[in-house]
Amino acid sequence: MTSAQKFSVADREQILTRLRNETFDLLIIGGGITGAGIALDAASRGLKTALVEKNDFAYGTSSRSTKLIHGGLRYLKQLEFGLVREVGSERAVVHYLAPHLVVPEKMLLPLSEKKGLGYWLTSIGLRVYDYLAGVKAEDQRRMLTRMQTLRYEPLLKTDDVNGGAIYAEYRTDDARLTIEVIKAAVQHGACILNYAKANDFIYHENLIGGASVTDLLTNESFIIESKVVVSAAGPWVDQLRNINNSRHGKRLHLTKGVHIVVPHKKFPVRQAIYFDVEDGRMIFSIPRGRTTYIGTTDTTYTGNIDEVLTTQEDAQYLLNAVNANFPSVRLSLADIESSWAGLRPLIHEDGKSTSELSRKDEIFESETGLISIAGGKLTGYRKMAERIVNLVIKKHFQANVYKPCFTHKLKLNGSDFSSRKEVSRYISSVAQKLSTSEAPLLTARYLVENYGRQTDQILAMAETDHSAEPIELRLLLAELSFGIQFEMVASLPDFFVRRTGLLYFDIQKVDRWKQKIAEECKLTLGWDDNRFKSELQALDRLMRDATKFKSA
Ligand code: FAD
Repeated sequence: MTSAQKFSVADREQILTRLRNETFDLLIIGGGITGAGIALDAASRGLKTALVEKNDFAYGTSSRSTKLIHGGLRYLKQLEFGLVREVGSERAVVHYLAPHLVVPEKMLLPLSEKKGLGYWLTSIGLRVYDYLAGVKAEDQRRMLTRMQTLRYEPLLKTDDVNGGAIYAEYRTDDARLTIEVIKAAVQHGACILNYAKANDFIYHENLIGGASVTDLLTNESFIIESKVVVSAAGPWVDQLRNINNSRHGKRLHLTKGVHIVVPHKKFPVRQAIYFDVEDGRMIFSIPRGRTTYIGTTDTTYTGNIDEVLTTQEDAQYLLNAVNANFPSVRLSLADIESSWAGLRPLIHEDGKSTSELSRKDEIFESETGLISIAGGKLTGYRKMAERIVNLVIKKHFQANVYKPCFTHKLKLNGSDFSSRKEVSRYISSVAQKLSTSEAPLLTARYLVENYGRQTDQILAMAETDHSAEPIELRLLLAELSFGIQFEMVASLPDFFVRRTGLLYFDIQKVDRWKQKIAEECKLTLGWDDNRFKSELQALDRLMRDATKFKSA
C-alpha cells in the first residue's frame, strides 16, 4: 500500500457513532503495538473489530523502547531459546512489511577479558543466535580481532578491548510502527479511536459483553457492545484486571527503562554498539540523525504509571557507563538534549531480579471472559497478535468462517520497495528535490525512514501550501497536515513526540517551530484560546521533563 486512507480527528463523530451503535466481535483496549497488531490481525481475518486507546496511539511503552527490532541476544544468556527463535525470525518479516521503517543495522559488540562472556562463548552464542533467527549467510556474525574492533570504534577504551563481533539487528521507530499498523487495521475495517478510555466492563449473564468508555476530548461516556474483549493495556493490564476482579495468580512486575539523547558530535559513535558495563548489564549506543541515544536502565518501578520520568540518577548511570567505556567522550548532564522513560510490563516471578525476569508474553483469561496480554516485545507483536486472534476465534467463533493469519503478507503504508537498495535510491531522489534545504540528505532520510513512499504526499503538500515560509517550516507544516488528515493527530504532543519523534531527536526544532505549529493547529483543528495555551503548556512540560531531571 502506498497512500494512506483518511484517518482524521475531523472524523471522530463518525467513528463515535459506529462505536456507540454497532456490536463488535472484538473490542481491544490499548493502542500500543500489541493492541495495534491484534486489531490488524483480527480485522484482516474478518472479525468486526474495535479498539480504544485512552491517550494517543503508542503513548505507553510503545513510544519509549530502545527502538530496535531485535532478536534479544541477551535472552540467550537466560536460555530463552523459543523467544530468541520467534523474535529473531520475526525481524526479517517486519523488515519485509516496512523496509523503510525497519532498517538493517549492524551492531558492534566489543569484547573484554574483564566483562561479558568472553570471545569464544560470544562466538558460539552469536552462531546460535544467527541459527535460531535464520539469518542469511551474508548477514551472519563476524568475529573481529582487537585491532579490527578498534578500527570500527576508535572511541572505545583501548586497554579493555580484546576483540569484538559484528552481528545483524534492525532499528525502527516504535511509535511510527504502531501508527502504521493502526492505519493498516483501519484500512481493513477496524473502528479505532484515541483519547477514549475504557472505565469498566459490561456483563451479560456474568460474561463480559463490552465496555463503558469515555471520550476524553468531550467527556461523554458511552457503551461499546462486543462479543469478546481483549486488554492489551501494557503496564495498565493489572488495573483492568482489578476492575474485572480477576487479578489473581500471576501479576505484572513493572521495570523502568530510561534512554538519554546527546548530540552525535559529543558522542560520535560510527555505528550502533552494544557494550558491557561494570555492573554486569549491557547498554546500547545508537546513532540517529544528529544525535546518539543511549539506553537503558532496568529498575523495579512502583510509582505513578501515568507519569514515568527520568531521574538524575537514571541519567547519571547511563553517562557513567559511557564515560567508563569511551574515556575520551566525557559526557555530563549538561550534554543531554532529551530523554524518555518507559515501563516494561513483565510477569512477576518470586526471587528473580529485574534483569532475570522473562520478556515472554503471557495471556491471562478471567472467569468472566476478559483476555489480557502483557509482556513480550515490540519485535514479536505480529506473532503475539496471531496467538490472541487464534484463541479468540477458537473460543468464540466458528473457526472455518475466518481466514488464517496472513499479516506476514500485509505490507504497511508507503512500503512498496522491493529491496533496501530501492529505499536508498528513493532517499537520494527525495534529497535532490530538497536541494535548497540546509541538510538535504539528512532531511530526506528522516522523511523516508518515517513515512516511506508517503513522503511524496508530504512533499506535494509542502510545495503547494505555505509557500512564503522557510523550507524547514513548510516541510513541518506539511507533516502536520499529513498527520491531521491521515494519522489522527489531535494534539501538539501527538505530533512532536509520537508522529515525528522530534521531541526526542531534534528538540531545538520543536522549540523553533512549536508556536507556528500550534497556530496552524488552532486554525485547522478549531482550537480556542484556552486550548491553544494549554497545548503549548503541555508541550513545554514534556520538553522540561525530557531535559531537567529531579533526584529520585
Ligand atoms: P503499551 O505500548 O504500553 O500500550 C498499552 C496502551 O494501553 C497504552 O497506550 C495505554 O495508554 C493504553 N491503555 C491503558 N489503559 C487503558 C484504558 N483503560 N483504556 C484505553 N486504553 C488504555 N521491544 C523490542 O522489541 N525492541 C526494543 O528495542 C525494546 N526496547 C525496550 C526498551 C524499554 C526501556 C522498554 C520499557 C521496553 C522495550 N521493549 C522493546 C519492549 C516493547 O517496547 C514492549 O513490549 C511493547 O512496546 C509493549 O507494547 P504494548 O502495546 O503491550 O503496551
